Amino acid sequence: MSNPRWLADEMVGRLARYLRFVGCDTAYVRGLLDDEVLARAEREDRILLTRDRELARRAGRVVLLTSPRLADQWKQVRSAVPTTPGAVAFVRCTVCNGLLVSYTAGGNRPDPDGVPWDRVAQGLRLYQCSECGHLYWEGSHTARVRQQIANWSGETRP
Ligand SMILES: [Zn+2]
Repeated sequence: MSNPRWLADEMVGRLARYLRFVGCDTAYVRGLLDDEVLARAEREDRILLTRDRELARRAGRVVLLTSPRLADQWKQVRSAVPTTPGAVAFVRCTVCNGLLVSYTAGGNRPDPDGVPWDRVAQGLRLYQCSECGHLYWEGSHTARVRQQIANWSGETRP
């Protein structure tokens, strides 16, 4: 189990986003019955992430998150499954979990607000979600996420 696959239930959406930031295949479900959540985890070979004790008790592979704090949840996940990556990677879309591909200019160019095209012209790489088209690049947001993760990891040192 090198890079584990996850299924986050509706109570842990923020954790799901952080797992996608580090490149983990993380499905996020909302509005499903418990049976449907369990069936999907089983079918897609995913480890369930939940704060629901009853649901966790019925799951095959699961991390029961005992704290509402994101920092605690992050540490709990990495402690339960140490192969969970700890570094930001441009692999998964944090919005929809789609795979990111290198974006090459030309063709059907999306142009949402905020893309630093001047820096792209100087060599900054863009990544695009193959599912929803969302664009990603190394910038102030990724720096904040990286710092956040580093802070959490630092807290785990004895
Ligand atoms: Zn996407």
